[in-house]
Amino acid sequence: MWTLVLNCGSSSVKYALLDPEDGTVRLSGLAERLGSPEARMVLLRGADKLEVPLPNGDYAAAFGVLLSELAAQDITGAEIAAVGHRVVHGGSHFSAPARITPEVLEAIRACVPLAPLHNPANLAGIAAAQAAFPEAAHVAVFDTAFHQTMPPRAYRYAVPDEWYSQHDVRRYGFHGTSHAYVAGEAARMLGQDLNALQLVTAHLGNGCSVASIRFGESVDTSMGLTPLEGLVMGTRSGDVDPNLHAYLAREAGLTLDEVTAALNSKSGLLGLSGLGSDMRELEAAAATGHAGARLAVEVFVYRLAKTIAAMTVPLTRLDALIFTGGIGENSASVREKTLALLGVLGLRVDPEANTAAVRGAAGRISTPDSPPALVVPTNEELMIARETARVLETV
Ligand code: AMP
Repeated sequence: MWTLVLNCGSSSVKYALLDPEDGTVRLSGLAERLGSPEARMVLLRGADKLEVPLPNGDYAAAFGVLLSELAAQDITGAEIAAVGHRVVHGGSHFSAPARITPEVLEAIRACVPLAPLHNPANLAGIAAAQAAFPEAAHVAVFDTAFHQTMPPRAYRYAVPDEWYSQHDVRRYGFHGTSHAYVAGEAARMLGQDLNALQLVTAHLGNGCSVASIRFGESVDTSMGLTPLEGLVMGTRSGDVDPNLHAYLAREAGLTLDEVTAALNSKSGLLGLSGLGSDMRELEAAAATGHAGARLAVEVFVYRLAKTIAAMTVPLTRLDALIFTGGIGENSASVREKTLALLGVLGLRVDPEANTAAVRGAAGRISTPDSPPALVVPTNEELMIARETARVLETV
């Protein structure tokens, strides 16, 4: 039996049909720019790629193309036993994935104020997928769930108590599926039991976060109420002084919404470099002397190293530091610069092993006398498929 994994954004759908047992991907692809005249679907069949224009298409149109694609590949609806949906915010309601019922949908809806861009898209995607795959069991897998094990000292902000008790203002954390997956893979690589390990995981993609994982449970992470807190990211600022909004309102006449939008989409690597949000592009520009690109990479790495050090505070020793995500898996230079700042933790890079670990390769990149620093490619689709299968086994 196959599990369909769906990740619905505001104008996109990523899908993968895979075997949750061994991770074999039968089909995958994405629909993008939905709702616009340029909407299109990209179908990946192994190494082959097929593009289908979907002018002004919505989720239903995308799932229509997906159903035809399944039929063309001789896959019947009955073979898809389960659909796993990535849902960004589960608030304090969900500490584990959940089979989608009317009550679960209501709880996801209750989290919309916490993730006003993501959760409505996730809900719309679930509705369209339930219509397209009425026979399958649908399961929600939350980005926040893994971090629900954080203790109050890590998840509470030092703000008036009623903001927490009445408005759910606390730290939730994100990228939980990825942090949990790479922690499990790292344990496998080290040949040790995850429940005996103390790890720090760095998920570095367009969004970036670091997590502290003690005996298989998240005990702290760098993202907070929303995915804006913490590290420097592609277009997100990460931490800033909370007085920034008021200061810019007074000094620059900006509204709350304008500052919030700029912190989310014009800041981070893009804001610092004035060039772009793509680490590859910035590394190339920095190599030719672009001052903004150099500064962006330097601030990114410094803040990352500082946060990794902070994430060792809940641990009594560091059994491994794990790099993952597009930047973590591919940028040997970001890893090397970060490890160079973390000598205080005994971390030492092995330059040759570090350069060799690119393009999906897993491996140890530290010297034998250092705590292990590992590159572990993430696989959120496989983790969502596994979690989906696990939920269905237990109901
Ligand atoms: P993700 O969100 O996990 O797909 O990661 C996207 C980020 O990974 C972007 O900033 C890319 O520039 C970065 N990335 C992908 N490949 C490389 C590479 N070879 N070197 C540096 N950064 C890379």
